[in-house]
Amino acid sequence: MKTLKDFNFKNKKAIIRVDFNVPLNDKFEVTDATRIQAAKSTIIEILEQGGSCVLMSHLGRPKGVQEEFSLRHIVETATDILGVKVNFVSDCIGEKVATAVANLEPGEILLLENLRFYDEEKKGDVAFAEKLSKFGDIYVNDAFGTAHRAHASTTIIAQFFKEKKCFGNLLAREIESIDKVLNNSEKPVLAILGGAKVSSKITVIENILDKIDHLIIGGGMSFTFVKAKGGKIGDSICEDDKMELALEILKQAKAKGVQVHIPVDVIAADDFSNDANTQTIDITKIPDGWQGLDAGHKSREIFDDVVNKCKTILWNGPLGVFEMENFAGGTIALGHSIDKATKNGAFSLVGGGDSVAAVKQFGFADKVSYVSTGGGAMLEMLEGKSLPGIEAILK
Ligand code: AMP
Repeated sequence: MKTLKDFNFKNKKAIIRVDFNVPLNDKFEVTDATRIQAAKSTIIEILEQGGSCVLMSHLGRPKGVQEEFSLRHIVETATDILGVKVNFVSDCIGEKVATAVANLEPGEILLLENLRFYDEEKKGDVAFAEKLSKFGDIYVNDAFGTAHRAHASTTIIAQFFKEKKCFGNLLAREIESIDKVLNNSEKPVLAILGGAKVSSKITVIENILDKIDHLIIGGGMSFTFVKAKGGKIGDSICEDDKMELALEILKQAKAKGVQVHIPVDVIAADDFSNDANTQTIDITKIPDGWQGLDAGHKSREIFDDVVNKCKTILWNGPLGVFEMENFAGGTIALGHSIDKATKNGAFSLVGGGDSVAAVKQFGFADKVSYVSTGGGAMLEMLEGKSLPGIEAILK
């Protein structure tokens, strides 16, 4: 696996695919700069070696050129975070860009305009990728969030660099962390899968069953399992057409020696609302008119025990409707359990969409071993798929 360490960037121009797809408010101010922060290590390492950085990214989902999606909006924030002036050019291919790149001195940064102003980016257009490739001596991919897409700047461009391509520090760490969970893990290994739907996590479960010792199934997903086993789930969320599959998963888990833990009690509500009336109840005996919206206290204790006897922990998906304060308790309790296990030497990886939001919201981001930056990309890796952006560097 080639990383920055395999190159000397002195007097070289690195063309880096970063993920600066950050949220903006209606004044076009950056509201969460985590992704810019995450790219800092790679950029600074190259600058300190005496190289220069040409940064390319997408921002949002523009249809053609749309000023509101211009990357110029993030220049000030990026300059502040990186501590180095970020120069900006208002296109990503063409004469103007070629001149700006030619004038770039060692130690300088140039940010190109939103790649998705050109349809060719998402189409993975080879000619467009070749044009981009002219703006650097070495290609660095540091955008995990788009590594599962075969776009021009994330994948296709790599073919124009033969040996001169590598992973940036962020992407390398993402790959190492997932590898540490899936392939080089210290046992016992625990996967915690929560969130709304079984259907979106099926392939993940099937792929990881061979690699884990314990599986906690929580959140909305758990009701499909409970109902399939004959429990009464009232009005809780359920995918009836996935019940057979749920039973099949339980059977496979048993055959593979994986211990499955499903909540035993839930906080049930008489409405999908923070102000609903609630009761804590056995998960197999939820009355009609009530729905389970969070893990109950007994379940939290059981999960705490499981978490704290495991040495490798993967967490994807909340244990309840954490967006509502009254149903966030199970997810918060799990965060505390993982915090404790991590302090005692376990390796904990959190990733995939909503769990990252939850971990950040409740202040656990610094307490787990690693928080993945790519939702979709992480899920695809857990599903055992090879990601085109990663393959393109390894080739
Ligand atoms: P996912 O994107 O599949 O990880 O699902 C995350 C979503 O699942 C969050 O928005 C949660 O509010 C939701 N969720 C978790 N537990 C439940 C539940 N018991 N009932 C309904 N939605 C839930």
